[in-house]
Amino acid sequence: MKFELQDTFTKALPQDPILENSRRQVSGACFSLVAPKKTAQPELIHTSKEMASELGIPDEELKSTSFLEVFTGNKVGENSRPYAMCYGGHQFGNWAGQLGDGRAINLGEKVQNNKRWTLQLKGAGETPYSRTADGLAVLRSSIREYLCSEAMFHLGVPTTRALSIALTGDQVLRDVLYNGNPDYEKGAIVTRVAPSFLRFGNYEIFSSRQDYKTLTTLVDYTIKELFPEIENTNKEGYIQLFKTVAQRTLAMIIHWQRVGFVHGVMNTDNMSILGLTIDYGPYGWLEGYDDNWTPNTTDRQHKRYRYGNQPNIGLWNLYQLANALYPLIEEAEPFEEILEQYKKDYALKYLEMMKAKIGLYSNDENDAELLGTLEENLQLIETDMTLFFRNLNLISKNDSTEKALSKIEIAFYTIAEFKEDTLEKWKAWFNLYLKRLQQEHLNDAERVVKMNTTNPKYVLRNYMAQMAIDKADEKDYSLVDELYMLLKKPYDEQPEFEKWFVKRPEWARNKVGCSMLSCSS
Ligand code: AMP
Ligand code: MG
Repeated sequence: MKFELQDTFTKALPQDPILENSRRQVSGACFSLVAPKKTAQPELIHTSKEMASELGIPDEELKSTSFLEVFTGNKVGENSRPYAMCYGGHQFGNWAGQLGDGRAINLGEKVQNNKRWTLQLKGAGETPYSRTADGLAVLRSSIREYLCSEAMFHLGVPTTRALSIALTGDQVLRDVLYNGNPDYEKGAIVTRVAPSFLRFGNYEIFSSRQDYKTLTTLVDYTIKELFPEIENTNKEGYIQLFKTVAQRTLAMIIHWQRVGFVHGVMNTDNMSILGLTIDYGPYGWLEGYDDNWTPNTTDRQHKRYRYGNQPNIGLWNLYQLANALYPLIEEAEPFEEILEQYKKDYALKYLEMMKAKIGLYSNDENDAELLGTLEENLQLIETDMTLFFRNLNLISKNDSTEKALSKIEIAFYTIAEFKEDTLEKWKAWFNLYLKRLQQEHLNDAERVVKMNTTNPKYVLRNYMAQMAIDKADEKDYSLVDELYMLLKKPYDEQPEFEKWFVKRPEWARNKVGCSMLSCSS
């Protein structure tokens, strides 16, 4: 396979002079060269044709031995100089020091149609940043990352992508529940793709070490290579960079709120400088709409990364990035202004997004209140977010309150719990909503077309990913493929896949992998 890689990252940035692959603190360098680990018996499970075509890889290449070898780390391409990045991060609110690519190995950059893509193997063995872990990934978490990152792309959410998923043939020991019962699982590697995998933590690490020279080099590189619209690499340019990152971060989080995605570990080492969703670990999808829900069992107590707190955490993380960049600017005011603007923009954009979810495109002074009440109502009894919003497309402006309510009834999990009081609240809401719809200029059919581009019909529900994992464990990859195909068109009706437009089944309510996820991956 001919694969021209041309790397700007390793060329422009300082390299760790030590070539030995030993775990250590790395200073004054943005990356360490490291070779992927050879795998016992690599076997490709699935490839993303869409991503491959973006990269200019023809279909037949995907089945070639050299593709398999390169994307499982068994062969290093001619012009590839694999490396792991040095970064730090704030984890659960505390500075954690050096983290880095502990199990991600970057192969290089491919330019195709004027776009630059970094290719990265996740789970390809240890690096100087592996700390106490093994540098590997298991099939379970790899399927979750592979399917979800491509699904998010097709949902229109900014995200890193995936090119392929392969088994390594090696066994990997994991304690899924962190309860002292480790077990062997199948090892796997996902090839991830993004214009860059730089995170907030890449900047924080140099700032924390007062290595402003490397910090400046990295920031200048970021502007030149990744933000070409910013003209200067001076204070003005740095402020513009921070402003753009803040805007992109907010835009990404608004999308998460729209589709009901909960990242689960919004540490600053998992925040992309490009505003891409990155590092699919113990993420989850809202089934019952619930501001307080977090899929991550590690976060069960404080729920720092709960659904309703994601926009706040985005802001908190931006404060950390601001602190990291401050030494290059030495003025607090421009940062404060941008952070203030984030709050204002959030309020406006969130309202606009939620209005679009219920098909409101004009303005009324009571819209915020109408949506506030809706969010309260959605949490009265367990109500499926995806089904509720999607089925609003069945409602006509001229429906009676009862008729409208009956159209979203399938979204309620426990209709038995439906008290008189709850019913009254819903009726009151639909009454106001139907009146409000009358003010819209669009007719029902026009409104539905627009709503259907905002409210997905199909998302990767937690139990769906788990079903694909259970089958894949038995060497049956049909469900990986089925979900992949389904999630390529999340806004389309796809009647042949209607079986996935349902509430979470009862068996999945408290099942590990479906409602309970840990960072073990
Ligand atoms: P995460 O919570 O997955 O974002 O990971 C936090 C840090 O731990 C990053 O520096 C990862 O590279 C590292 N890490 C996670 N899992 C492993 C592993 N199995 N081996 C080595 N490093 C890991
Ligand atoms: Mg991470």
